[in-house]
Amino acid sequence: MSILDDYYKYFLPIYEPVDFVPHSGHGSHLYDINHNSIIDFAGGVAASALGQTNENLINTLHNQAKTLWHVGNIFTNYPQLELAKKLITNTAFDKIFICNCGSEAVEAALKIARRAAIKTHGEQKHEILAFDKAFHGRTLFSVTAGGQPKYWAGFEPLPPGIIHAPFNSLDNLDTLINKNTAAVIVEPIQAEGGVIPATIEFLQKLRELCDKHDAALIFDEVQTGMGRTGDLFAYMGYNVTPDIITIAKSLANGFPIGVMMTIDKFAHGFEFASHGATFGGNPLSCAVANATFDMINDKNLLNEVKTKHTIFTNKLREINQELDVYCEIRGRGLLIGAELNDKYKGLAYKLVRLAVKYGVSVLNASPNVTRFLPALNIPVDDIITGLERLKLALIEFKNCDMSN
Ligand SMILES: *Cc1c(COP(=O)(O)O)cnc(C)c1O
Repeated sequence: MSILDDYYKYFLPIYEPVDFVPHSGHGSHLYDINHNSIIDFAGGVAASALGQTNENLINTLHNQAKTLWHVGNIFTNYPQLELAKKLITNTAFDKIFICNCGSEAVEAALKIARRAAIKTHGEQKHEILAFDKAFHGRTLFSVTAGGQPKYWAGFEPLPPGIIHAPFNSLDNLDTLINKNTAAVIVEPIQAEGGVIPATIEFLQKLRELCDKHDAALIFDEVQTGMGRTGDLFAYMGYNVTPDIITIAKSLANGFPIGVMMTIDKFAHGFEFASHGATFGGNPLSCAVANATFDMINDKNLLNEVKTKHTIFTNKLREINQELDVYCEIRGRGLLIGAELNDKYKGLAYKLVRLAVKYGVSVLNASPNVTRFLPALNIPVDDIITGLERLKLALIEFKNCDMSN
């Protein structure tokens, strides 16, 4: 009997965990209860930016837990004040709201943008433009903004006023964004949707049209933020600055937290009691976020992310030259996607499960793309060893596909 039998006995079947149950970890290595190890290229789905058992983060959490645990928003607290100051002074934004995850951050972004637009211009200015294949979270508002019908199917009626356009296409943008547009929400790199970077022209055009129509440009950097691309935030690398940003995943290295920040212009969308979150700004998560932020906001670490992108993709290309599984390898920093050849279309999830058998964890992004999100501080040796293990998985992947 496997522990996974228990899993399926008790859990709603929304996930299908792989056949490896991590019991402990160190850096980019995960160990099961029998001391089998895997190299982690899934990185807690973009949250474990500094890997497992980081000494500094452990001490930070311990010290905060011994000092103040939770107080709620009748009080402010020192860790949240420190985090707010850090994030505001290191970015282009003026005001912050702290919550618990990416979906909540997106929810807050859409709500503040819509409310600010309606307050200033009247009820007809409520439309939100989002993009096909986008992923913005799982609350009803954020899932509706996402561009993947399979995630909202069956949950209708959906919140109205959200329209979708093709990502990276300039066609019709100047009619799609108009006087009734409250906000445009976009991932600078579509992550779940297949690791597809926006073009600079596309983001610049969105910036221009949002300015023209007084609409809020929201960058969902839940996955691309916090050093993932080799810039502190992806918008910095593109040199296109949004009005509102959402951050979560890596912000506290996997400790639950989310953040929405806005420029002053849209801050009036929220006033006293118009939004909230009981756990938002909790001292534990904010203390860990402070320590994580200081470690990631480091020139050397960010430069290394860019260097490791090259090392990772070169090695993967070398493997692919031999095995010919992927038609394109792309991404920025340590958000890397490899698109399967037509022949293997739809099988990315199968490889996720197979890789674990060979001692490496990867993700899919869409059914056709293998996605890699290793820790930003992963040692180069682990990159090479992990990819050599992936190579063995790819060999079996090819063979079992032939026999199907
Ligand atoms: C993961 C993700 C979300 C949702 O975050 P949760 O913490 O799972 O709620 C939203 N937007 C993007 C771009 C994401 O990658």
